[in-house]
Amino acid sequence: MAAVAKGKGEPVSCEQCYFRQKMLCALDLDRPCASFRANRPDGLSPPRQPVLLMRPPRWANERDRSDAAA
Ligand code: SF4
Repeated sequence: MAAVAKGKGEPVSCEQCYFRQKMLCALDLDRPCASFRANRPDGLSPPRQPVLLMRPPRWANERDRSDAAA
């Protein structure tokens, strides 16, 4: 199975990888590995992270219930 750039749907190759182009890859694989990072003009950028959603603390819900009961 070929590696696919997230969200683009285009297959990627080791030749497009930052690590290969900077001669930092020591792997001799026939397909891109999980470490693939696209070599962009602005260099190596960290992978996108999911947004962190904050939940209210548990004690906030308990306080709301006690306020409603009063
Ligand atoms: S790090 Fe992985 S994807 Fe990048 S060149 Fe090396 S083997 Fe290929």
